[in-house]
Amino acid sequence: MVAEAGGNAPVAGAGEHAPVTPDWTCGTCGADWPCEPKRDRLLTEYGEDRAMLSVYLGACLAAAAEDLHAPGATSLRNRFFGWLPRRPR
Ligand SMILES: [Zn+2]
Repeated sequence: MVAEAGGNAPVAGAGEHAPVTPDWTCGTCGADWPCEPKRDRLLTEYGEDRAMLSVYLGACLAAAAEDLHAPGATSLRNRFFGWLPRRPR
């Protein structure tokens, strides 16, 4: 199941480093989302299912690009995907 990104619903539960729209800062620690604790949490939550994590982050990126009026911005893409550890072969 993929949580729907966007709207005003917290993506991962209240107070759990969920993004605050339309600024896409973390509702818990105030850093740009996904913040460090959230990144750790995502990797733990999705574990080996990196494909699902990419789908989820892609949905978040699309919503963030719309909210921040930066469609396809490289910096935004790096922010959402650049932190992912390389997939082990
Ligand atoms: Zn946070």
